[in-house]
Amino acid sequence: MLLVSNNWCGAPRRVRRGPDFRSGIDRMTAMASSSSARAPRPASYLTAAWYGRSSGPRQARPRPSRGPHRVPGPLTRRGLAIGIDIGGTKVAAGVVDGYGAVLEEQRRQTPGNDPRAVEATIVDLVRELSADHRIGSVGIGAAGWMDLSGSTVLFSPHLAWRNEPLRENLERLLRRRVMLANDADAAAWAEWRFGAGRGQDRLVCITLGTGIGGAMVTDGRLERGQFGVAGEFGHQVIMPQGQRCECGNRGCWEQYASGNALTREARELARANSPVAQELLRSVGGDVDAITGPVVTELAKAGDAACRELVEDVGEWLGLGLANLAAALDPGMFVVGGGLCEAGDLLLDPARRAFARNLTGRGFRPAAPIAVAALGPRAGMIGAADLSRVSPRLRRP
Ligand SMILES: [Zn+2]
Repeated sequence: MLLVSNNWCGAPRRVRRGPDFRSGIDRMTAMASSSSARAPRPASYLTAAWYGRSSGPRQARPRPSRGPHRVPGPLTRRGLAIGIDIGGTKVAAGVVDGYGAVLEEQRRQTPGNDPRAVEATIVDLVRELSADHRIGSVGIGAAGWMDLSGSTVLFSPHLAWRNEPLRENLERLLRRRVMLANDADAAAWAEWRFGAGRGQDRLVCITLGTGIGGAMVTDGRLERGQFGVAGEFGHQVIMPQGQRCECGNRGCWEQYASGNALTREARELARANSPVAQELLRSVGGDVDAITGPVVTELAKAGDAACRELVEDVGEWLGLGLANLAAALDPGMFVVGGGLCEAGDLLLDPARRAFARNLTGRGFRPAAPIAVAALGPRAGMIGAADLSRVSPRLRRP
């Protein structure tokens, strides 16, 4: 198996032993009995439901809402936590309650390539947000590859961390313990806890931003792999000898299906001085370097044909990569979030078509639905806060 579970941030044992949590899980299990790994399916389920179909891949329907979502962790408005999401360009921080509601938030630009400056920004944000709230824990979601213990950022393609003991540095500066996670893991956790993937047994989340963030939640646990760096789906090589990637390889998925990819392609089209890019160039006053993903997305929404094509191309790459993930991981649902999702169906319709066309075994297997993330740009912050709340390392005895 490609990915394996571990106990890093699953259900807290204290809560697991309690009858309340147990009954919640039992209820979830009962409701999801047809697909739960805990309840083996009868052979007839496979033969009758999925095989022998001739009308294209079946779209598995998203499960209906299960009412109050019973999940690990103390669901109480009093258990406030600070969540901080450090991305390639922005740092978002917020005070989050036990229901995933953001009570106060702040946003800053990510301060360049200096790890000390990033730490200083985090410390400032924690102090500001702590001024008016009684904070129980602090969680950081950072755009980097964590070691399994969640203490060191091994590498960050978009920031300057290289074997950076970020958790230790922050704990020294803040004089309190903090939880450190990958930003995509934090966003996926939030979508599973409170968002579009609520209660899914096997959920894959993709965040389309500067690059591609990826994570998987299985049976209420984040899949972190043997060494803590699972879920870097954006760096699957999808085009051998293709575009160079910050990770050091060529042809990574995120070079074709991300905000950076959309910007690069749009600038290239504009530089080619093609007549089809006239509206795009006019919108930025002829300054090619002022073309960004949001500019292209807005023009596409307004009906500009060239920008629609650019977004569709990215959508097709997205669908192809999701089909690869379905072949390897077979999730029950994909949740796609990040800034690029502002394009809505202009992006996702081509993605769904490409997914259906490239899905291995199509026509003879269910096709996982592709849903839009529900928590928007706050997902990472909400997830980081919630992970700090349920982290065994930070839980009070
Ligand atoms: Zn890469």
